This record gives sequence, structure tokens and C-alpha cells, in this order.
Amino acid sequence: MNVDIVSPGTYTYGSLVLGGVLKEKGHAVKITRKLESQGDVTLLSLFSTLQLLDPKIRDFVAARENVYVGGPVGLCPEMVLGELDARAVVTGEGEDIVARLVESGPVGVPGVAFRQNGRIEKSHPQPTKSLDHALPLIPDDLCQQNVRGANVYIETHRGCLGSCSFCQVPRFFGRTIRSRSIENIVAEVEEMKRCGISRVAISGGTGSLFGYRNKVNKEAFVQMLRSLSAILGKRNLSVPDMRVDLVDETILKAVRDYTIGWVFFGLESGSDVILKAMRKGVTVEDNHRAIRLAKSLGVRVGGSFIVGYPGESREDFEETMGFAEEAMLDDVFVSIAEPIPGTPLASQILNQPQEELSLFQEHKGEYQALKLSEAEARCFELMLHGESCKPIPRALTNDLYNTYLTEARGQGQDIKKVMTLLGKYREYLP
Ligand code: SF4
Repeated sequence: MNVDIVSPGTYTYGSLVLGGVLKEKGHAVKITRKLESQGDVTLLSLFSTLQLLDPKIRDFVAARENVYVGGPVGLCPEMVLGELDARAVVTGEGEDIVARLVESGPVGVPGVAFRQNGRIEKSHPQPTKSLDHALPLIPDDLCQQNVRGANVYIETHRGCLGSCSFCQVPRFFGRTIRSRSIENIVAEVEEMKRCGISRVAISGGTGSLFGYRNKVNKEAFVQMLRSLSAILGKRNLSVPDMRVDLVDETILKAVRDYTIGWVFFGLESGSDVILKAMRKGVTVEDNHRAIRLAKSLGVRVGGSFIVGYPGESREDFEETMGFAEEAMLDDVFVSIAEPIPGTPLASQILNQPQEELSLFQEHKGEYQALKLSEAEARCFELMLHGESCKPIPRALTNDLYNTYLTEARGQGQDIKKVMTLLGKYREYLP
């Protein structure tokens, strides 16, 4: 069978893995970032809800017979099938079912949804039996891809112990940790290096959960980093995402010694009230403690924050500003609270009157002339503030100011579009 895997704009890791699985089963597989396909079957890998609204993607799907859609959007298959004229949607993990799906169609395959006789039929997803998989299919131009400094993010494990209200990871992959073997990961990275990939990042929610079995398996984590660093060199390996309560001296020393030496903590807020509302499971003091520990060991620390969370008052936001000042982070990412399908936050935002959400309130403070919503203004303000609180601040040029302003506005607009879309499928959201 000729199978084309289309991963619009960015090669997702899942698309590479499915390509490898299908190739091992004897299919002729091509993978592309462009919206083009001549295959008997097309697998479309989506990483964002907004992609469902992209007219080019909609036209691409409508013009073809056998398009199967996969990715986190599969958590709400009614929405995917409502927006795209696809043959079916994969609603869970794809490795164990993809061959059957392309060979015989969706009927009887677990973890898919498709239209039949005017109704949407859904089968229950089953977790992949073993995460050790065939070598991924590596396209020639993967070495030119740059996603936050890496050519590609690889997966070492699935699942998260956390249950943060805004996050899809535990909803899609569960709260039990399943890890790949180090041998399987090493073989994959060796193959990537052979194909010209130089910079690899490890994704998966919290890197230090690799090998977790009832407790953090520090030895496995350190061994995995040491093995990958020996292949790529420490300057080409990163393991950015960490929970602050799942790092200690051993973990952070391994990050320092075997990777580029950065961590990005999901700090989210400087207000304990908001951290609790987010079900983050940590306190502001936990955040400070992890930052101090990392810095004391020579690890550079970036932090991500969420503003405009339902119920976040101006005082809560001021606490976040104060937190950023005290923490003096090397890098700061700010997002406006986004209703990602399948998360408790999505239901909360959709069920709340819009006038109560800061995204729909006019900002009347210092940046009033910019005509931002309150959430956009907080996003913009924290980005500027984070920049000025860096250990070595950059000069605030007009370009930088405008970049942050555009980013904050763009986030606000995108989230409003997503909210309108999710509102159409409110009754189907998990
Ligand atoms: S945000 Fe991070 S810690 Fe929280 S549930 Fe998601 S992956 Fe886990």
C-alpha cells in the first residue's frame, strides 16, 4: 500500500514513528510537511486545535478519499469529523492499530471514530502494548527543522503523575508511566544522527519520569542522558520540561553534565490560590526551592507562566510579577490560559460566562492605549517584566516590544477562535 503521512508545517514525532511502523510492515511510506499526497491512504498528523480551522487543511482533506486524522485533537473526534471531511479519526495511540487501519479501514479497529449511516461510530482506544517501536521514518529535511532549538523532540515515556487542569498529557496518555527501553531510544538517536539530525530534545511532560516505577528512577534517567549525550554531544541534547517536585540534586547534575544545561519549569503562577485552582500539586515555595537548587548546581532555568486563568485577580497577577522578579529566570514563556480539548480547564472556560473571563474584559490599566483585553495585557506585561528580570537583561528595543505585543495579541485572538470552535462541540467534549 502507498501511504503518505502529512504533518503540516512541522514533522511531529508521532508522524515519524508511525512512518517507521508502516515501513516495517512492508508499506511504501512517504512523509512530508507539505499539504500534498498521491498515496492510496493519507495519514494527517495534527498537533493543534487551530489546524482544524485552516482552510488549506480543510480543502486538502475534502479533496481526498482516504484521509485518517491523528493527534491530540482525537480526544474530541466529533469536532474533528465535524470540521474535516476525513474518513476516520484516531482517538488514542496509533502504533498498534495504524497498519490495520490503512490495510482494511476503520471498522473493527480499536481507538478510531468514523461516520457510518449518518452517525459517528467510536471504538474504545487501547494503550500501545510496548512503546519500543521500529526505527522512525526520517525525512531528508528533518535536519533543517527547528522547534525551540531542536530538530526534533523524541519521546522516552508516556503519561504523567500530575493532573494539571490545563494539560492534555494525563488525559491522552494516562497517569501511569510507561517507558521505552534505553536500547530502543539509543538505536533511534543513532539512526537520527546517521541521517544528519544534530539537535534532539526529549519531550514527554516531565523528563525525570523516564523509567518511573513507584518512584523516580534516577539511575535510569541518568543512564539515558549519558547514553544519548555520548552519541550527540551535550551541546545537542536537551531535556527541557520538568516538574519542580520531580527534580533533585542527582537529576539536575545529570541535566548539567549531559545536556545543554537548561531546565524549563512549568511555574505557571506566583499565587498559591491559582496554583491550587490549576491542580498543579505544588506551591510557590516549591517553585522557588527548585529554582534555587538548579541555579546552585549551575543549571540555567527557564520558566513558563499561564495568565488570565479563570479567577485570577489583579492581586494574583501582581504576585506572579513579584515571583518573576525574585526568581530572576534566564528565560520566560507566557501563555494565556487556553481551553485545550479534553482538559478540565476547557470545560471550565466554556461553562463560565465570557464577561467573567479576563480575555473578554477590556484592559483599563497602563496599556489601555494598546486596546488589549486584560488577559492579553497581563501576558504582554509579564513578558516585558520577565525580560527585565533576567540575570542579564536584553535592551528593550522597539522590535522586542512589538514582538511581545504581537505575541500577546495573537494568543488572545487564537484562543477566542478555539473557544468559538469548542463551543460548537461543547456537548461532546470529554
Ligand atoms: S503540565 Fe506537566 S506536570 Fe502537569 S500534567 Fe502536564 S505534563 Fe504533567
